[in-house]
Amino acid sequence: MTAMTPSTLRIGYRYRPKRLAPQYDAIVIGSGMGGLTTAALLSELGWKVCVLEQHYTAGGYTHSYERHGYEWDVGVHYIGDVGKRTRTRRMFDFLSSGKLKWAPMDAEYDRFYIGDKVFSAIAGKKAFRDNLVTSFPAEEKAIDAYMELLADVSGALSVHSMGRVLKPWQQSVAAPFMKMRTPASMYRNTYDVLSELTDNQDLIAVLCGQWGDIGLPPKQSAFMMHAMIARHYLYGGYYPIGGSWRIADSIIPMIQKGGGEVFTYARVKRILVENGKIAGVAMKDGHRIECPCVISSAGTDNTFNHLLPADVVEKTGYRKLLPTVQPSFSYLCIYIGLKETAQQLGLPKTNFWIYPHNDFDAAVEQFVADKDAPFPVVYISFPSAKDPDYENRHPGTATIEIVAPAPYKWFEEWQGSTWGKRGEDYNELKENFGERLMQHLYDKLPQLQGKVDYYEVSTPLSTDWFAGYQRGELYGLDHTTERLQQKWLGPRTKIPGLWLTGQDVLTAGVTGAMMSGMLTTMAMVGMRKMTPLMKRIYA
Ligand SMILES: Cc1cc2nc3c(=O)[nH]c(=O)nc-3n(C[C@H](O)[C@H](O)[C@H](O)COP(=O)(O)OP(=O)(O)OC[C@H]3O[C@@H](n4cnc5c(N)ncnc54)[C@H](O)[C@@H]3O)c2cc1C
Repeated sequence: MTAMTPSTLRIGYRYRPKRLAPQYDAIVIGSGMGGLTTAALLSELGWKVCVLEQHYTAGGYTHSYERHGYEWDVGVHYIGDVGKRTRTRRMFDFLSSGKLKWAPMDAEYDRFYIGDKVFSAIAGKKAFRDNLVTSFPAEEKAIDAYMELLADVSGALSVHSMGRVLKPWQQSVAAPFMKMRTPASMYRNTYDVLSELTDNQDLIAVLCGQWGDIGLPPKQSAFMMHAMIARHYLYGGYYPIGGSWRIADSIIPMIQKGGGEVFTYARVKRILVENGKIAGVAMKDGHRIECPCVISSAGTDNTFNHLLPADVVEKTGYRKLLPTVQPSFSYLCIYIGLKETAQQLGLPKTNFWIYPHNDFDAAVEQFVADKDAPFPVVYISFPSAKDPDYENRHPGTATIEIVAPAPYKWFEEWQGSTWGKRGEDYNELKENFGERLMQHLYDKLPQLQGKVDYYEVSTPLSTDWFAGYQRGELYGLDHTTERLQQKWLGPRTKIPGLWLTGQDVLTAGVTGAMMSGMLTTMAMVGMRKMTPLMKRIYA
């Protein structure tokens, strides 16, 4: 692994109008996993692609940052399905030309503290099932029925995904077939589906112990999303060796090889539409980049409410569709640095999920109404323990991250203010949350008392700043049953030359965003050109 300096983490090429090529085949807005995947696959097909990223480094939620000698990831705590040569793994291997390597977490990849009880998720289908049966011996039948349901819904997920690529008329033709292949549970809420299997509320809570990965508690989330996440991690969690920034770093060369580039500090202000067609983008500095093909990976809200001209959004009917989807929850994160190694401190390669009790929906409701109520979920991750290369880059140190939800409205009054200069009230609010969250860490790992060298709290406003969102969204759009059935949320748009990609097109998650990149490319170039590429990826 390369020696680490602060600049190594700033990947991509700083934007200047004079650095642009005279012409590109496509412009991608946003360098998250969705944007980079689309750009890389198009590059492999001979396109010259310009990726424009507003942040100082590429990668979107996969970027990492360094401060005070520590390095933290911001949106990659674990990835599933990469231990073997699965479809997910092959896609990562292809995009990174085999350079991205994965380290397994502990067999116990998630631990759930629910009130005063403790449960685990163990890697491997059988181990996962058997461990649940050990915790809930009277529920064996319900657990087996759950495992079967997961398999059924997982099988239908590819049908759901492929449906996103179809043209509207093809969607109508395929509708009866797709309905046949879609289990009824897929678009129902998670709690209702699980309640039909068992009335044991602790078991339901354990099965939903990863609700933070979905962004919605069980009475609000779609079972499809629940099943997707549960299936994704069923064979364990993995961490990118070298840090999450290695994801973008290992994909960018494919874009450059095709003559394209990934520019940072490159904020797009407007998507230009002329005579009803895409004409290019206008940058924040006023420069215009002409191009008849623009792919937005900046999210639905940014694209339709902030980047496209309002009259185009109105005329094409999107204005009426937008209220069918909502932004996901916003969140707080604490980035912690310690002056001993993960091993010396006894940090696990297991994520902790801490819940006040087993009624997750009620806990959220209570917290949203009263910020002094217990956090409905506190998630703790130990990135330096998960990354076997961390110590080579930052010897003698360790890092921890704590994530918890926090409604955006609590921070709204400081919206638009400058980072680091938001005043005393804001700092006090942040510190109060910070201290409460740190207490959860000390409760679970008392050996860390007195060992923390540095910590900082990020709020939803920090998310807006680095990831370009408007409401500090954790996962783009909320994963409700309604959202997942919106046919307009796919790669195609009604504006000729404009395409969408990223987590809002399919689902959140690094893999969800990556697969959206594949679907967008497929929709753009058609199956005839895509098939040979798919054969190479999945050879
Ligand atoms: C705290 C947290 C933890 C997470 N943990 C995990 C995890 O453990 N495993 C997992 O699989 N997933 C996890 N996720 C989710 C995952 O990171 C995301 O779903 C995924 O990376 C989203 O990719 P994307 O390409 O759709 O969007 P993003 O990564 O958000 O990329 C969008 C990009 O567009 C840029 N942009 C926006 N507007 C403009 C503009 N006007 N001009 C130029 N650029 C613009 C943004 O700066 C950003 O870089 C986590 C997310 C968060 C927030």
